[in-house]
Amino acid sequence: MSDSPVEFGPLRHKSREYGFSPKGLALEVFEPSAELPEILVMGSIHGDESLSTVLLSECLRSIQPSELKSAVILAANPDGVLAGTRCNSRGVDLNRNFPTENWSAEPVYYRNRPGSPQNIALSPGVTAGSEAETKALISLIKTLKPSLVVSIHGFLACIDDPDASPIAENIAGRSGMELVPDVGYSTPGSFGSWCKEQNIPIITYELPSMGMTELKRIHIPIFKDLITGHYHSLLK
Ligand SMILES: [Zn+2]
Repeated sequence: MSDSPVEFGPLRHKSREYGFSPKGLALEVFEPSAELPEILVMGSIHGDESLSTVLLSECLRSIQPSELKSAVILAANPDGVLAGTRCNSRGVDLNRNFPTENWSAEPVYYRNRPGSPQNIALSPGVTAGSEAETKALISLIKTLKPSLVVSIHGFLACIDDPDASPIAENIAGRSGMELVPDVGYSTPGSFGSWCKEQNIPIITYELPSMGMTELKRIHIPIFKDLITGHYHSLLK
């Protein structure tokens, strides 16, 4: 793999729509042109964490289409990205809307900066799996059957993998972030819980809060390795 950016202009990789958001935006996945992807890397299920989209996009634009070996979703919650909200355009935290054993109809409380009270309420959806983005993602994953999903969030600065897999250990070491078995609070109906119940290994990649230059320097090389097949030998 070349380290030099090929082109930082438009996205030139093959993509397809796997569904639509409530506002009618395409839910888009970028895929290798000639093979089935083993890893799915996804950003912005929380629309207010759209740095994940910016970093993943730059990473994707810096490689040739032939180098892409993983499936990439730049924004799992495009309505939220455009509005700058954690939730989708129906006020639902998609990361609490998955049909898991622990899904709860109780409101989801979050904080918008470290240290502030966790008192902003969002809906987990009227029922588990009620949202178009959730349904589309479930259906995509059932088709792709990835060996690993990496979901990028911000800004807890950790690598969350309940299995402490070799890939997660490697990423934690390279990024200087702690490898943790959970994020330290309960997340009923989360995408991570759903993947676990489906026996799909998942790494929740919580970016740190830092300047853009440092973020890119540290994390884009790791993202690149995730999407170009570098980690395939470490997959089970
Ligand atoms: Zn998040």
